[in-house]
Amino acid sequence: MREFLKEVQRIVVKIGTSSLIYPNGNINLAGIDQLAFVLTDLRNQGKEVVLVSSGAVGVGMNKLHIGQRPAEIPKQQAIAAVGQAELMNIYNQRFSTYSQQTAQVLLTRDIVEYPESRKNVINTLEELLFMEVIPIINENDTVAVDELDHLTKFGDNDQLSAIVAQILKADLLIMLSDIDGFYSENPAVNPQAERYTRITEIDENLMAQAGGSGSSFGTGGMHSKLKAAKRILANEQAMILANGRKPSIIFDLLAGKEYGTLFAPEQLEED
Ligand code: ADP
Repeated sequence: MREFLKEVQRIVVKIGTSSLIYPNGNINLAGIDQLAFVLTDLRNQGKEVVLVSSGAVGVGMNKLHIGQRPAEIPKQQAIAAVGQAELMNIYNQRFSTYSQQTAQVLLTRDIVEYPESRKNVINTLEELLFMEVIPIINENDTVAVDELDHLTKFGDNDQLSAIVAQILKADLLIMLSDIDGFYSENPAVNPQAERYTRITEIDENLMAQAGGSGSSFGTGGMHSKLKAAKRILANEQAMILANGRKPSIIFDLLAGKEYGTLFAPEQLEED
């Protein structure tokens, strides 16, 4: 059993596009509704909850009836601008059903790299948690771009969620994806691949077992999830990678059930 998970107080949950959008491009309302229910219940239990949500481009494509993700950056950013507003609209509706207040926080990498602005972000998020609000965070997709001396992109929301967990000193990052955990090989390629239940250290060997994204909506793939886990482990924090098909899995994870892959340093005992 993963006993320490019963005690976690501050939780960052990251949800990927593949858990929010069906393969046909439509919005997975049942999944979003269940996510709102679960996170509100955790909040009602007195835990502090932060959601990092992808999905702006996917929701925007759905709203604008665009079937294929355009290659041009301005087009993608315009779609993200439409989709982010619509995504928050959907979240607000669902969370309102459970009387839970949410807030939108859009970040760029420069903000968390400069000490003054990082402090400002932390203060704002701390204040929201104190007010019992659930912050919903995304990269500011609409404007983020990388210049030589001015980097504003996080790369992907896997890294963003690990950075949010780091600056907020969260007890746990729960990363919800479209797969049951990290496997010895991409199960889509080799169905015999085995799931890791616990990882304490990430070396090149493990990195080599991580493949690319499984869906046309997924972005980072397993490599970026391991990179995020590496940051978490370096900060002696814990992360679970689990399947977000049914967000109620979060209740099971916090009860200590051995679903998904737990990334946690050795000193966090599992007894
Ligand atoms: P999300 O949209 O949730 O961020 P991604 O599509 O980016 O998800 O990444 C998850 C996908 O990574 C899985 O569906 C799987 O096809 C792929 N993958 C590659 N290598 C592995 C591995 N070793 N273990 C598990 N999944 C893997």
